[in-house]
Amino acid sequence: MSEAILKALEEKELFIIDADGTLYVGNTPTPKAREFLKLLDKMGKKHMIMTNNSSYSTYQHAARMSRILGYRVRRSGLLVSTNVAVKYIKDNGFKSVHALGVPAFKDELKRNGIKLSLNYPELVVIAFDKTLTYRKLSIITKLIMDGIPYIATHPDILCPVNAGYIPDIGAILAFVKTATGKEPQAIVGKPNRMMVDYALTIAGTGVERSVLFGDRLYTDIKMANEVGMTSVLVLTGETKNPNEGKYRPDFVINTFKDILTNWGSD
Ligand SMILES: [Mg+2]
Repeated sequence: MSEAILKALEEKELFIIDADGTLYVGNTPTPKAREFLKLLDKMGKKHMIMTNNSSYSTYQHAARMSRILGYRVRRSGLLVSTNVAVKYIKDNGFKSVHALGVPAFKDELKRNGIKLSLNYPELVVIAFDKTLTYRKLSIITKLIMDGIPYIATHPDILCPVNAGYIPDIGAILAFVKTATGKEPQAIVGKPNRMMVDYALTIAGTGVERSVLFGDRLYTDIKMANEVGMTSVLVLTGETKNPNEGKYRPDFVINTFKDILTNWGSD
């Protein structure tokens, strides 16, 4: 482990850390993930745990992550694509939306003051809906064909689970695009920079004082590259070869253990 990464991390104030594949895989924490979060707390560093997965509410995410990591994850320390979708809806002045999502997703929108409308929305919002039915797809197809714009919480095609993969929202979007011939107005989750911009705003930290940890070059590292944020590729998830794409992390670590053994031990 080079001194350079420790020196770089020392100067950072906000740590944005991807969840799936970086802090845990399935229901198993990656090596020293918990200790890494605890060290950041001890050092007084802010951190946000980032996930595109809009099939859980922030309450469910916090509970689930706490259980997996053996570390108390707070809702306020989460960066979920749903948060960014809420901001997008509000910033763009949409008063009512038709949501394609699990009940917990719809509750989250309602909790944030967004009115749900089945038949007369101003916007269709597509989330990762594990309660998807043909009827639901038929309804949004009609709305979009009638000219209602639509957005999606994230673009992921597959979602990693213990047994491999399950189809994610990208597959639903492919259906909608094929049926309607229309593109979404926005896909707000990573790799869209709206995700990190949201985190920087919430944390009140500048991009130069922030660092992003993730396991995917074409989402996590791409987003960091685009906003000029220092990035660390962690090889616990999808990426096995750090040089396989056009996006370049500033640093590469095998696991958080690489950092823990040299940092914060004094
Ligand atoms: Mg990941």
